[in-house]
Amino acid sequence: MNWLKPDRRTLLRGMAALPGIGVLMPATASAAAARLSGKNRDVISELKIRSFINAAGTYTSLTASMMPRPVWDAMTVASTKFCPLQDLHDAVGKRIAELTKAEAALVSAGAASALAIGTAGVLAGTDREKIQQLPDTRGMKNEVIVQKSHRNGYDHAVRNAGIRMVEVETAAELESAIHSRTAMMFFLQAANNRGQIGYEEFAKLGKKHNIPTMIDAAADVPPVSNLWRFQQAGFDLVIFSGGKGIKGPQSAGLLLGRKDLIEAGRMNSSPNSNSLGRISKVNKEELVGMMVAVEMFVNRDHEATWKDWENQCNRIAGFTKGVPGIKSEIKVPELANMVPHLHLDWDHAAVGKTPGDVVKELREGTPSIEVRPGSAKNFVIAVWMLEPGEYRTVGRRLGQVLKG
Ligand SMILES: *Cc1c(COP(=O)(O)O)cnc(C)c1O
Repeated sequence: MNWLKPDRRTLLRGMAALPGIGVLMPATASAAAARLSGKNRDVISELKIRSFINAAGTYTSLTASMMPRPVWDAMTVASTKFCPLQDLHDAVGKRIAELTKAEAALVSAGAASALAIGTAGVLAGTDREKIQQLPDTRGMKNEVIVQKSHRNGYDHAVRNAGIRMVEVETAAELESAIHSRTAMMFFLQAANNRGQIGYEEFAKLGKKHNIPTMIDAAADVPPVSNLWRFQQAGFDLVIFSGGKGIKGPQSAGLLLGRKDLIEAGRMNSSPNSNSLGRISKVNKEELVGMMVAVEMFVNRDHEATWKDWENQCNRIAGFTKGVPGIKSEIKVPELANMVPHLHLDWDHAAVGKTPGDVVKELREGTPSIEVRPGSAKNFVIAVWMLEPGEYRTVGRRLGQVLKG
C-alpha cells in the first residue's frame, strides 16, 4: 500500500521570496551530537548500523520520528521506578483523554495494536469468557463493514480479532449489508477521497444503525484539531500512531473514544494475560512518554512550526537554484502527513542524472541522507523530521550532487 499518494492540494510558493528567510532557525552544526553527552554509549555506532539525516518522513522502517528531549527524559525517570501498571494506565489515559477532548483514551503498542484491541473490545466487550475465546468469534457478532477502497495492509490488525471484512461501495450497499452479525464499521482516513462515503456521512450511518464505528487516522496529525475532529464527527473509536506526527515513542499509539469501548479495549489487552492484546504490551516508559508527547504536541506553537517547515523547504530549494532542469515546489498532502514537503521535478535531459541516482548518492554520501523515494520524474524532501539546522546539510549536499 502506498501512503505517498500524489498530493492533490498543491500550495505553490514563490521561491522569489527566498533571501532573508530562515533567520528563525538555530545554527546547530550537529543536532544529533548535541543531544548526547560524552558518557552515553552509542550502540548504533558500535554495531556499525548506518544512521542518517531523516529527510524522508515518518517511515517505520526508517525509525519514523525522534522523541523530543522531555519525552525521553520522562521515560528515563519512569524506568527507575516500579509502580502498579494498571493505575498508571488509568491516570495516563485520563490525562490523554483531557488533552484530546475524548471521552476516554488508552495508550496502545502502536496504531496497529489499537486497531486490534479496539476491535476485540467491540466484539467481546468486558465479558471474560468472550475475551478469552478471541480470536474465535463463535457466538459473537463478527462482521466489519468497510468501503472497498479503504482496504489496506494495516487492516490485518482488525482481522487479527477474528472478524470478516464485508466490502461495500455505496451508502445504499452499506445500509443493506448491516444485519444481526454486523459488529463494527471501519474507515481509513487516508482513503477519505477514494471512497464514495466521506468520514462524516460514515459516522452518521453508524449512529443511525447503532453500529460502532472505528477510524484509522494513524498518520493524520497535524493538524492538532484532528485529535478531536473525528470524535466530534461521531466516530466511537479513533486511532492515531504515537510515533509519527506526535513524536511519541515509536512503539506507542492512541485509542480514543467511547468510555465503555475503551474500558473493553483495556480488558482485551496487556497486562491481562489471557487476552488477544497480551501480545502488544505497553510498559510504563511508553505510557509516560506518550503522555508527555501528547502534551507537547497539543501545546506546540503550530503556526510557528508550520512557518519553520516552509522556511526549511524554501532554504533547501535555494540550494538547487541555478541547476538546469530542476523545478521545486512546496506541496501539502491532502490526507496523511499533511505538512509542507519540497517536491523537486525533473527534466532528465537537462540534469543528466535520474532522481534515483540522486537518492542513492545522498544515501551513500557523508553524512547519509534519506529522502522520500520519488518517481522517474521527481523526488520529495520531507523537512518535518529534520533536527534543527539539518536543513542546511541537506541543501548543501543536494546542491553538490545535482551540480556535480
Ligand atoms: C502508520 C500507520 C499505521 C500503523 O501505525 P503504527 O503506530 O506503526 O502501528 C496504521 N494505519 C495507518 C493508516 C498508518 O499510516
